[in-house]
Amino acid sequence: MSVRERSLAERLARPEVVAMSGYATAFDEGARGDVVKLDANENPYPGLGARSGAAGVNRYPEPQAPQLRSRMAALYGVSADMIALGRGADDAIDACVRVFCAPGEDAIAISPPTFDYYETAAMLQGARVIKTALTSAFSFDAEALIKAVRADGAVKLAFICSPLSPTGGAIAREDLISVLDALPETLVVLDEAYIEFSEEGSFSREVEARENLIVLRTLSKAYGLAGARIGAAIAQPRTIELLRKAIAPYPVAGPCIEIALDALSPARIPVTKRRIAEIIAERARVSEALKASPFVVKINPSATNFIFVEARDAEALRTRLNERAIAVRWRENVAPGGMRITIGSPDENALLLDAFEVEEAGVAKRRAEHARRTNETDIAAAVDLDAAGPVDVSTGLGFFDHMLEQVAAHGGFALTLSCEGDLHVDAHHVIEDCAIVLGKTLREALGEKIGLRRYGVSIPMDEAAAEVLIDLSGRPVSVFEGAFTASHIGAYPTEMTAHVVRSLADHLGAAIHVKVRGDNDHHKTEAVYKGLGRALREAVRLEASGSASTKGVLE
Ligand SMILES: *Cc1c(COP(=O)(O)O)cnc(C)c1O
Repeated sequence: MSVRERSLAERLARPEVVAMSGYATAFDEGARGDVVKLDANENPYPGLGARSGAAGVNRYPEPQAPQLRSRMAALYGVSADMIALGRGADDAIDACVRVFCAPGEDAIAISPPTFDYYETAAMLQGARVIKTALTSAFSFDAEALIKAVRADGAVKLAFICSPLSPTGGAIAREDLISVLDALPETLVVLDEAYIEFSEEGSFSREVEARENLIVLRTLSKAYGLAGARIGAAIAQPRTIELLRKAIAPYPVAGPCIEIALDALSPARIPVTKRRIAEIIAERARVSEALKASPFVVKINPSATNFIFVEARDAEALRTRLNERAIAVRWRENVAPGGMRITIGSPDENALLLDAFEVEEAGVAKRRAEHARRTNETDIAAAVDLDAAGPVDVSTGLGFFDHMLEQVAAHGGFALTLSCEGDLHVDAHHVIEDCAIVLGKTLREALGEKIGLRRYGVSIPMDEAAAEVLIDLSGRPVSVFEGAFTASHIGAYPTEMTAHVVRSLADHLGAAIHVKVRGDNDHHKTEAVYKGLGRALREAVRLEASGSASTKGVLE
């Protein structure tokens, strides 16, 4: 410690934390990989009834889950030594307070209304809490915070929730920069629990250049993993070393690491991004619709996955919500009739709007997601039959991407599909498995509403022509007539087209008949995919008086 100059975090930390060495686990003492593991007093047998996802649960997980840590580092654009993993961002908040605040001496600064746990953690540590208010419009007041911290010599940490919770607004980037610049001797803990839902970018990439910045991120909100309890502190490596001393030796459970690695696999990120975009769109739709509610006084702008509403007749509204068993977070200390409402699924939001006495045009949303992993491929897809876009396909095979995009674009439906596969072997598994997943996802999106009519189209492409007949009968049959001269178009084997038709038929539960003729293989192939799209467009269309639905209003 004497040789190297102390970092800001080392100067601010409690001296006893700087002086101590962290708890050393069996991993820290060397044992790794394939050894006879008699070093950690584990049980040789996994807990009885451990589910298949919990293989190896009799062993301690690696303390900082190196693979998960690297993946999160890549996601947040930092290096792995700039991340400390914990049981949720809550763990990181707690570690910050314990490392930097000496009980009875030091303080943290917060700007209420804000996330309650900052104050809870400080109280548990015996640290003082100084408070500056948001503006009357619930905007972050950088000047007020800077002044208060400067006036109190004992503030080690300034917690800023960005975007704001529970009020939901964004904080302008320049306001955060002004705080970071004005308080070089204070650690600014920027809690970005909801940043994925905001148009403002994350500050995680600023950490490398700013010694006084700690960014908190979590997989709980945007990645749908609240139950797995995984969050991260992002800071300069020497700050991370200090925080790790205050985080439990094995903070993230083995099965949770596996679950998170699944969710963060590169093939699944596009569908997650699609979900985030849909939640943002629902936020706009619900906010707009609520304006017509007799209960609503004000809706605050949101950069998160919730909205802060100020309601009138709170008692009557509470009763209506209770009757429908809808839970919201009342925050009447923040504003009269104040409530924080999470944006749910379209069905949940419809129930909410009904409780607020908002009439909604009944939109039947036919969407589905499917994720599938084998030894050969990892694929995730999302389909919305009632939206014309976006169409976003990435399989690693340019030509096949283009063909699947044709199916969705001509089919008139939104499709996100991404695949990581063994293309180094050949294209076969990727193409076949993508067709399987597309078929399954379409099938699920159709729900009960299966049209029984047969649809057919003929698609000319210059000298080539394809005829495609589709019947969403539930009985899988595929017939393919046609032949190709070349073995490949780019990396795409021409024989796979018939294969794709068969896989789609099998997993969509459809009879699909394809007849293709012509001279040019590229034209013939493209005509088949376009034809599949066009025939699907007709087949999945809902008919006003049709047999289609048991669920209700169909237009
Ligand atoms: C949800 C939330 C957290 C906690 O996240 P976990 O990772 O689930 O512990 C932290 N800060 C804010 C503002 C939150 O809303």
